[in-house]
Amino acid sequence: MRILHVAAEIYPLVKTGGLADVVAALPAALVKRGLDVRILLPGLPGILNGMTGLEPVFQIGPVFGAAVVTLLRGRLPDSGLSAYVIDAPFLFRREGNTYVGPDGRDWSDNHRRFGLLGWVAAHLACGELDAAWRPDVIHAHDWHAGLAPLYIAQNPGLKTATVFTVHNLAFQGRFSNDCLAELALPVGQLTPPGIEFHGGISFMKAGLVYANRITTVSPTYAREVRTAEFGYGLEGVLRDRGTDLSGILNGVDYAVWNPADPDIASAYRADDLAGKLACKLALQSELGLSSEAAGPLFVVVSRLFVQKGMDLLLAALPELIGEGAQLAVLGTGDDDLETGFRRAAAVNPEQVAVFVGYDEAMAHRFIAGGDVLLVPSRFEPCGLTQLYALRYGTLPLVRRVGGLADTVIDASAENLAADRATGFVFADAASQAIGKRIREACALYRDRRAWQQVQRRAMLQDFSWDDSAAHYESLYRSL
Ligand code: ADP
Repeated sequence: MRILHVAAEIYPLVKTGGLADVVAALPAALVKRGLDVRILLPGLPGILNGMTGLEPVFQIGPVFGAAVVTLLRGRLPDSGLSAYVIDAPFLFRREGNTYVGPDGRDWSDNHRRFGLLGWVAAHLACGELDAAWRPDVIHAHDWHAGLAPLYIAQNPGLKTATVFTVHNLAFQGRFSNDCLAELALPVGQLTPPGIEFHGGISFMKAGLVYANRITTVSPTYAREVRTAEFGYGLEGVLRDRGTDLSGILNGVDYAVWNPADPDIASAYRADDLAGKLACKLALQSELGLSSEAAGPLFVVVSRLFVQKGMDLLLAALPELIGEGAQLAVLGTGDDDLETGFRRAAAVNPEQVAVFVGYDEAMAHRFIAGGDVLLVPSRFEPCGLTQLYALRYGTLPLVRRVGGLADTVIDASAENLAADRATGFVFADAASQAIGKRIREACALYRDRRAWQQVQRRAMLQDFSWDDSAAHYESLYRSL
């Protein structure tokens, strides 16, 4: 069975979030199961520079406002997976962020850039671009690839099955109606059953309406997106799809994320945690934090946005400081939140440190060196950092939403007694709720035996891709 994954980012070449990790790891896990998998990516500088053996497959010519568009094929680093790359210099060869220009606003031609991604996917499905390899299934990820199922549905002779995965419903790819003609789509699409959405068009909706099956990245998020609280106005569309919508939890690439990874100060294992203390001391020293703190070291590795509950955390910070605990933040995002954490660090330099930036190796050092990883998200489709943290014996403290609810078992008295607990869970998106759970985590930290029992239980959890890839495979086969 031939599967083409279509996505805008892929670790380690271009990454803004968890999507990139999934697009790298899931195809590799499917190949291990014997499927014939390729990936289609936009020719962003990071992708063109990072791949090997890129050769032209088809000269597409002028389309979507680009004078020259060439389909290339080559290999991805590490996995060696085969990937097609759309080389459209006018649209993709830009330095900086994949989605946003230097002025901080979305690139004004994003509809053409990502429309082209879906359009090329559909033409690969037809066999027009590479007669030697025609996919049976197109698996499109997030709004960037949302037009692929629509373009395929427009060709009734095509038997290619389509799967659309929602990694984050908050980013929808919404554009004005004027874009329709540039995307070679009929005006009939400008209707509620089509891709019209609040007077414009939505790439996300295109994926949701036209894909044969929809998945989200955790079972709980698949239920949540059917409600007004989490559906971003698309809850009706999602409810209408009934059982076509399901949730498959993301996995972790344990070859990259394990407590013997090359980025951390000292390797350790569930049955020998000495190295973890060395990692903590190294992180404290790197960040200028005191090594004498009475409480645990809380860490954050996140985009700093309200979605991630970072405002709630800032409001709860006095509780954490009052407990004699420490906080280390690695992230970038909203100016206000960055400033808030910077101020807190300036006032309490021994207890709070912030590194504003994006740094993969540092993320490993934070996750290995922390005692607790904070993920107080307002919504969280799956969340990867809590899964990484579990493997490093860094107990996740999370809000009970989306994939966080599916993956962290609260250290309640009952779960502790049954040796099931793997972290701390709170319910309300309120600073009091997170503050209370922070105090309780500090209390458990003082009971070294209980703490280590939870650490060991956390480290034994298995969120490898094997299970999730098996679920995707049976979904493909059902089509
Ligand atoms: P999202 O995709 O919503 O950002 P996830 O938890 O699914 O959230 O994935 C976030 C990914 O991005 C993780 O791999 C995490 O380690 C990484 N990450 C987030 N912020 C940073 C940062 N400042 N530096 C390095 N890695 C980061």
